Amino acid sequence: MGSLDWAARAAALQMDGRAVIDGRRVDAVDGQRFDKHSPIDSRFLASVVRGQAADVDAAVRSARAAFEDRRWAGKAPAARKKVLQRFAELILAAKEELALLETLDMGKPIQYSLGVDVPSTARCIAWYAEAVDKVYDEIAPTGDNALALITREAMGVVGVIVPWNYPMIMAAWKLGPALAAGNSVVLKPSEKSPLTACRLAEIAVEAGLPPGVFNVVPGYGHEAGEALALHMDVDAMGFTGSTRVGRRMLDYAGRSNLKRVYNELGGKSAFLVFDDFDDIGRAASTVAGSMFFNQGESCNAPSRVLVHDSIADEFIRLVAAEAPKYAPGDPLNMATELGALVDQGQMNTVLGYIESGHAEGAQCVVGGRQARAETGGFYVEPTVFAGVGAQMKIAREEIFGPVMSILRFKTEAEAVALANDSSYGLQASVWSHNINRAHRVAKALRAGTVHVNSYDEDDITVPFGGFKQSGNGRDKSLHAFDKYTELKTTWIRLD
Ligand code: NAD
Repeated sequence: MGSLDWAARAAALQMDGRAVIDGRRVDAVDGQRFDKHSPIDSRFLASVVRGQAADVDAAVRSARAAFEDRRWAGKAPAARKKVLQRFAELILAAKEELALLETLDMGKPIQYSLGVDVPSTARCIAWYAEAVDKVYDEIAPTGDNALALITREAMGVVGVIVPWNYPMIMAAWKLGPALAAGNSVVLKPSEKSPLTACRLAEIAVEAGLPPGVFNVVPGYGHEAGEALALHMDVDAMGFTGSTRVGRRMLDYAGRSNLKRVYNELGGKSAFLVFDDFDDIGRAASTVAGSMFFNQGESCNAPSRVLVHDSIADEFIRLVAAEAPKYAPGDPLNMATELGALVDQGQMNTVLGYIESGHAEGAQCVVGGRQARAETGGFYVEPTVFAGVGAQMKIAREEIFGPVMSILRFKTEAEAVALANDSSYGLQASVWSHNINRAHRVAKALRAGTVHVNSYDEDDITVPFGGFKQSGNGRDKSLHAFDKYTELKTTWIRLD
């Protein structure tokens, strides 16, 4: 695989930015499109449908018709399983094309599109396919005279809106459980990364998913996104994105049909290193790897690093020594670890945070500058700030770029208080060889996932989501079925 000439393949790749509605590629009703360029070098990629309310309405009507005539929901779970397993197989069969599209569209290194994004997407779809004919409903422990059946039913039409940082994986985390449970879906990908979503919908039809069950309408958030979230015939919204837009999702539901809203939002995850952990080199390399993975554009990036005062100098030196391993490079080169940020706006946001770190008095120990400007792409060096104060912007706000903030603490209580002093609560990590402390601190941290002496442990079998303003509900694991099914109780009188 490493020997493939990705640049040549990229030049020859066919890209289609049309929507997929009712199983077919279609243009926008009013013909509007926007140009999508690559953050790698600003090359033109495709002219993409700029969906409006009329396009969203056509997709929702198609999804509703598919749901009502039971062409998918009415199939036995084992039959839905077969189609979704085939969908996963075809995703893997198209792995090079999908990986290339993802890399060109949003800038991540091809080795990760190929080694992480495509296989994780396929595994997610396959996992829900395999699960769906193994989950049982319930009979309540009532008296002898009645039977109470507690069953899960598909909700109907599920709207999905996803961000650009893991376009396929984020979509799969919603599609897997929603489709397996029998729903129909209308997906609006980010306008910054629409291309793989459209291909996934085509591949799904090829796998045997009936037309109308999975529709994709590309477009902008304030147009297609708003129209979907306000639609009166959408039963639930699976949203992943910023906390700012997550608030709007709740507002749209309140202003329309009170559709269920499941928000997976931002983070500012804390990584706590205690002085009783004797391999701080491993802690330093782990935090650098997790922070700079995906250019730091990960909701769960460990961007707030809290280190015991007595080991902080050594830890900072070790982290700074790791950073050059993540030097920005050509995303189409298989050796590249850190690619381009998604667009110029995101790059400017990240550079603005770096500026604010300087202005507020933090010390930039490595990085801090734009890189590879001559390519026409949007790259930023992996950056580490030490001497960060808890009230600084770079300690409080989600930067969504390769910027790490290191703070110091003196006591366990101070570390926990600092870690929890955030409006977010997505993930956290505790590094300690004291088992009592590790348990105590893990329990005290207000986060959806806590890692002990590790980070980025991940599997489709475990729930993913956050406390506080990091969202509600959980993606992944069997718990995700809760989001896309309604519970029904049926009482049967026996006497
Ligand atoms: P964003 O909120 O700007 O956009 C997300 C999606 O919402 C896009 O498809 C966008 O078009 C759409 N959107 C924007 N405005 C809208 C509106 N007014 N109405 C309807 N839809 C609208 O987020 P982003 O910049 O694409 O992604 C980065 C964010 O996503 C970060 O905050 C990150 O932490 C979060 N994220 C969270 C998770 C998680 O699982 N918790 C995973 C990945 C990313």
